[in-house]
Order: sequence, then structure tokens, then C-alpha cells
Amino acid sequence: MPTETLEFQVEARQLLQLMIHSVYSNKDVFLRELVSNASDALDKLRLEKLRDDSLDADVSDLHIEIDIDRDARTLTVRDNGIGMSYDEVGQLIGTIANSGTATFLQELREAKDAAGAEGLIGQFGVGFYSGFMVADEVTLVTRRAGESQGTRWTSRGEDTYTLEPVGDAPQGTSVTLHLKPADPENQLHDYTSPWQIREIVKRYSDFITWPIRMVPEQGEGDEAPGVETLNSMKALWARPRDEVSDDEYHELYKHIGHDWRDPLETIRLQAEGTFEYQALLFLPAHAPHDLFTRDFRRGVQLYVRRVFIMDDCEALLPPYLRFVKGVVDAADLSLNVSREILQQDRHIEMMRRRLTKKVLSTVKDMMTKDQERYATFWREFGTVLKEGLVTDPENRDAILALASFASTHHDTEPTTLKGYVERMKDGQEDIYYLAGESRQSIENSPHMEAFRDRGIEVLLLTDPVDEVWADAVGEYEGRKLRSVAKGQIDLGAKDEDKGDGEREQRTEDYAGLLGWMKEQLDEDIKEVRLSSRLTVSPACVVSDANDLTPALENMYRAMGQ
Ligand code: ADP
Ligand code: MG
Repeated sequence: MPTETLEFQVEARQLLQLMIHSVYSNKDVFLRELVSNASDALDKLRLEKLRDDSLDADVSDLHIEIDIDRDARTLTVRDNGIGMSYDEVGQLIGTIANSGTATFLQELREAKDAAGAEGLIGQFGVGFYSGFMVADEVTLVTRRAGESQGTRWTSRGEDTYTLEPVGDAPQGTSVTLHLKPADPENQLHDYTSPWQIREIVKRYSDFITWPIRMVPEQGEGDEAPGVETLNSMKALWARPRDEVSDDEYHELYKHIGHDWRDPLETIRLQAEGTFEYQALLFLPAHAPHDLFTRDFRRGVQLYVRRVFIMDDCEALLPPYLRFVKGVVDAADLSLNVSREILQQDRHIEMMRRRLTKKVLSTVKDMMTKDQERYATFWREFGTVLKEGLVTDPENRDAILALASFASTHHDTEPTTLKGYVERMKDGQEDIYYLAGESRQSIENSPHMEAFRDRGIEVLLLTDPVDEVWADAVGEYEGRKLRSVAKGQIDLGAKDEDKGDGEREQRTEDYAGLLGWMKEQLDEDIKEVRLSSRLTVSPACVVSDANDLTPALENMYRAMGQ
């Protein structure tokens, strides 16, 4: 087969341009990205071999290797992992499958200045392509384990790349960066310096569970120095807590979370006894763009005694904590454990309950100890967490205790339910809320008039899930949660002289009008009544206390119920 020249997909091209003209100041991270891919490839091969012993692959010395060639100004990162087939190279390297990248590029075009752009790059990360920040040409040679033919991919990061078959490629993948010319002004980023490579690996990739080796260049006349392993390979979750720095935890998070930003919170849990496990969980600082899509890959990594078993292990946390990243290392599971078995395992069930409580209590702690961090968390993940109010009755109270909501009490500061109750007026029994599309539209609702007039606080709920949980939960610490759009709400007379007697009298006075209105609207309504809830608008439509509100009706309809 001759060499094929292929065009990058449009998004890929844009991304490459960005890398080539990168404003991202921390270029060192390209090495972390390549090492991270190599490590994933080794994990995948080990697992595939475990499942299928007949796979023709050598797994006797799985490792990552970094080679420097000062004269040629190249840096090569090599692994003997799963590799890629010819077609896979085209699919995985030539295109960008990640749907978030389109969003990213859009936001990037809108970013006004270099600082904004840098922030965005840091936020999305671009994996393999980050090599083009430091190289003007990248060559990848790969052979998929079990296949006989290899593939060479080359690109200068412009519009095209080439693909060609190679006969004698070793198993796995090697990525060779042809480094950009040295900048005499800037010795700090000399990627041909073994010393600097050692530092970067130590800083970003120490915890990688495969050996990362560096083969020194042959110095003239010197005796050949030995191969050096750059990383300690120690699992962070197995090391004593006070021996691990925040930075180390953060680098692990970036590797497993495919995120370039630091996490918001690191959570450690150690369970001893009959079912032993260690967990290291992270709350990200930003919600991923695809959190609410069907193909969001949720779940943490599962290890068994330091051996990686699977990614996205969804049995370990409930769906409403799907944004949590991390590692769970269990001592007493089989290396062959399957997703189906995990779903039914009693110990896993117990683990899930424990981890769930731990995450919730961590957020609760954040709330008391670090308001600002809690606010960030809730802004990013509150909507997801509220799903738990409907789906996880066991933790309902815990979630309610750490939830906060927009409220008429303050224009921008959300309130907790506890805060709301503390501010309740004398004689107010219930907690009032109104759900709608936006704060603005809710505040303009006629339903709000009487409440505003009487200075009664109303929670302003704008997430689609709000009505569902408010309905399902019903009350908070004995106080009913009531929609101001539903049923008869007696706010009490504003002026003392309007007692019950007067209401009756008035209803009698208006009986004729009310009756006529009821007749006219018969098809659409149940009842017409006088109300104390309006101050400016002449009339409004309310639902019965037990009816679905229009928004809920829509939602259930959409869910096919
Ligand atoms: P990500 O790692 O987040 O998926 P990357 O851009 O880093 O994104 O890599 C894209 C894909 O290319 C990977 O998902 C993987 O399938 C493939 N890939 C990259 N490097 C390697 C490698 N060393 N061995 C095997 N596959 C690789
Ligand atoms: Mg990657």
C-alpha cells in the first residue's frame, strides 16, 4: 500500500493551529499527555491479554521509554502497549471525536485576549496534539498487539497528515517529536536536556504505575550509563496521607480525569475489615460540558491490589455523583471481575453507600469551612446533585442540607433551606417556592405579587429537576414545600379587618360574576375563586394542590410517562 495523504478534520485543523501558535505558557505538559496515553495503552493491553490469553502479544516487560537525541533534536516517547491498527490511527489521531472540542473551539474564538485563550486551553486539554506546542513535526509509529503490520503517521500540524504501512514496527506506539529550534533566550524549556525531562516526569507523572525509563545518549568515550527509571510508580492512595503533597494528588487527578485543571477537593477513604479498600476521589472544579448527555462516561477507576481493572466503573457511585473522578482499590475482588458481577455484589453495594455518604459529608464540610469553594461546587454540580433528592431517599436529608437556592431574599446570594426557615415570618408555616424558566420570568409572575407585598420570601427554582424533587420531597424538617402556583394559599389577611367573615361576604357579593366566568371557561378550568394572592394583576391561573404544574406535565411527557 502506498503512502496516503489525508486531510485533518476541520476541528482538528483548528486545534492544531492553536497548538502551533500556542499561547499556553506551560508547554511542559505535552510530556504528561504523551506519557498518559502510553500508560493507558499499557493498561489496555494488560487487560486484553487477561481476558484473551490467546492474544499474540508480549506482556513480559510493559513499560514506557523516553529517548533523547540531541543532535537530531528529537524526543521519543515509546510504549509496548496495545498500539493502534492502520484504521484506528486515522480515526483516533486524524479526527477529534470528543464533542466538547467543538464547544471549546467556539469559546476560544470568542475569547477576547491571550489570557482568556490560555485559560481555555488549560481547561480543555488537547491530549496528543499538545506535542505540536514544542515540535514542528511529529511522527508516530505503531503496531497493534496481535497484528503483524504497523503504521507510520506523520504530520507537520498543517492541513494534512500521511499514513503508510510499515513492516517491522515493534508492538505498541512510539511518538517522535522533532523539536522546534532551540530558543537561546530560553534555556528553561530545553527538552533535549535529560535533567529537565527527569524533572518534568517527576512532577507530572510520578504515580504512573508503569516504569518510565530514560535511555541516556551514548557519550563519546564514556562508559554507557545504565537505563534509569524516572518515576516511583507508587500508588498515591496506598501511601500515608502526610507523605503525599497536594500537587501530587492534583497530577493524578489530571491523568485520570482527563482534565488540565486542579480539582476542587480531594477525598481519601480507607476501609478496613472484611472487605478492604482504599478510595481516592476528586471533585472537579468545573462541570464537563457533556454531563447531561446520554453518553457521558461516569464512574471512577477500579483497581484490585494496585492493578488497574477498569475505567468508568459506574457501580461504585450513584448516577447523581457521576461527575466524581478517582480511584477505588479493592483488596478482595477477582482480577477478572466484570461489570455485571459488580452490579450485584453485596460488598460493592456497601462500598457505594459508604462512598456516597463520604462525598456528601465532604461537601457539607466545605459548606461550613469554605463558603467560596462550596459556592463553586454548587454552581457547577448542584443541578446534578438534586437528582439525588428524587432517586436516593436514603440520602435525601443529607442532600437537602447542603443544597442552596436562589431566593427573593437576595438578588445574587443563594440561600439554604435552613437559612430560609430562620428568616420565616411569625405565623408562616410553609416554605414557598416557584419554579420557572428564569429568575426574571418567575419574578414577573402574578403569583408572586401577594408574597412580595407581604414580604414573604419565595425560593426561585429554575432547573427542570426542581419541580420533580420539590414534588417528591414534599417537606423539609416538618415544613411543607409549597409552590405558590398551586392550590389555595391563605397568606392571612393583610389588614386586620379582613377576617373569614369578610371573605365569605365578598364571595357572596361576587357570586354572579364568578358563576358567569366559570360557565364561560367551563372546558378549561375547575373553579373560579376570589383570592388574596394578587395585588396588581386582576386574575391568575393556579393548579390544584395535587395537580401537575405545566412544567412538570411537560417533563413527564418528555420522559414518556
Ligand atoms: P485522550 O487520551 O483524552 O483520549 P488523546 O488526544 O491524548 O486523547 O489521544 C487520542 C486517542 O489516541 C486515545 O484515546 C487513544 O485511543 C489513541 N492513542 C494516543 N496515544 C496512544 C498510544 N500511545 N497508544 C495507543 N493509542 C494511543
Ligand atoms: Mg490522552
